[in-house]
Amino acid sequence: MPFSKLGLSLPIVSAVTELGYETPTPIQEKAIPVILKGKNLLAAAQTGTGKTAGFVLPILEILSRGETQRKKRVRALILAPTRELAAQVEKNAEQYAKNLPLTTLAMYGGKEIAAQKQRLIEGVDILVATPGRLLDMYAQRAVHFDEIEILVLDEADRMLDMGFIEDINKIIERLPVDRQNLLFSATLSDKIRMLAKTAVPNPVELSTADSQSKPEITQWLTTVDKDKKSALLSHLIIEQKWDQALIFLETKHGAAKLVEQLGKRGIPAESFHSGRSQAVREQLLEDFKSGALKYLVATGVASRGIDIEELTRVVNYDLPFPADDYIHRIGRTGRAGAKGEAITFLSKDDFKNLCMIESRLGHLIERRVIEGFEPRNPVPISVLNFKPKHLATKNSSSKSSSPKNRQPRSNAGRSENARSDGRSNDSRSRHGADKSRSDKPSVASNNDRSGRGSSPWDNVKPRSGR
Ligand code: AMP
Repeated sequence: MPFSKLGLSLPIVSAVTELGYETPTPIQEKAIPVILKGKNLLAAAQTGTGKTAGFVLPILEILSRGETQRKKRVRALILAPTRELAAQVEKNAEQYAKNLPLTTLAMYGGKEIAAQKQRLIEGVDILVATPGRLLDMYAQRAVHFDEIEILVLDEADRMLDMGFIEDINKIIERLPVDRQNLLFSATLSDKIRMLAKTAVPNPVELSTADSQSKPEITQWLTTVDKDKKSALLSHLIIEQKWDQALIFLETKHGAAKLVEQLGKRGIPAESFHSGRSQAVREQLLEDFKSGALKYLVATGVASRGIDIEELTRVVNYDLPFPADDYIHRIGRTGRAGAKGEAITFLSKDDFKNLCMIESRLGHLIERRVIEGFEPRNPVPISVLNFKPKHLATKNSSSKSSSPKNRQPRSNAGRSENARSDGRSNDSRSRHGADKSRSDKPSVASNNDRSGRGSSPWDNVKPRSGR
């Protein structure tokens, strides 16, 4: 179906055609008509599915039919978790609105406040903001909410993970009651549904989970001892002739160290984290997008908002926590139908977290062994039917038990991946159901994650039978 059949007018259709969009992605095909009808929407759509155009295009259509805003007023408010995502969404909105007399503005911390205030004076049609900066501006009376017609919560699960719930509630309380509400989230977890109850009443619910727009990503992991990770990364870059890689790890310090280690092995890389200025981060992204920079080592802050077409590869140098972060990170590749590869370096301490991620995915991730980097301590195979206690108690009446005592699922319950051998040309490839399997998975301590609260795996229950 062409864009013109979705109820969008010519200026909008021309703008997306110029960008090379030929047909709407499935989320766009489903969401655009719903939004144009003025309905509230709750959509499960991962990054990379074209969700931004899915809400921005109909918003432009709606706003172009109405009146322009008054001073310091905003007509559509899009809340985003990070400055990178806010900047990216605003850039897309500006491109899509190029043939319309509608204005857009991104508002986030780290950007000069005076310039943002100045832009607000004339009023803005679409404001894309991070919650904290928006509340600051509201408190300073630089922006008023009384003309907001549409609210979008973009990557809502991420906003909750980042602790923005109070800010979001404060903002919502101050909005006009009569407005349209749209919520986009990679997953529709219980927390998201709680938020949706107040923020998005009586929504139409959409999901792209099984649609063809799902990014085509080959995921694999390799177990490696922590002290061998940087050597393994250099080995893979060189041996497999990687053209490009976005490499994620946990800390700024770790990122700087890895860049240094890669440099010593003749692999030029740059680090991307909150300690670098906004200007430097923007330049790094430009260089990475243009291909001038091949290897970017980023902390989680960069996992959203990086929109690089044809990014072929992301590497989880450290395994992200919580599980949603894994999904968001791998969503950096395989965007808009392109093929991508997501590689995870797994070490012994990551076992519980791996269980969580694979349970969320609903399947085991293919395991490959890279010769010369076999770990001293193999990581056991995950048990997929586990859920953290706080979620399991609602759904299951079975007795609590620790993963230490729990037997792995039988082969009958495993995914196809877990049963096949899947060798690759590049390395001896092996799925989980062989050597590294242990009958009693030993549960590694999660002490290294103590800064993030206690582990959700401290008490686990099996999910009720499906
Ligand atoms: P998003 O999921 O919104 O971050 O979009 C992911 C990427 O897909 C971005 O680079 C968009 O420019 C691109 N995109 C969005 N819609 C389409 C479309 N209909 N056809 C081709 N590319 C698209």
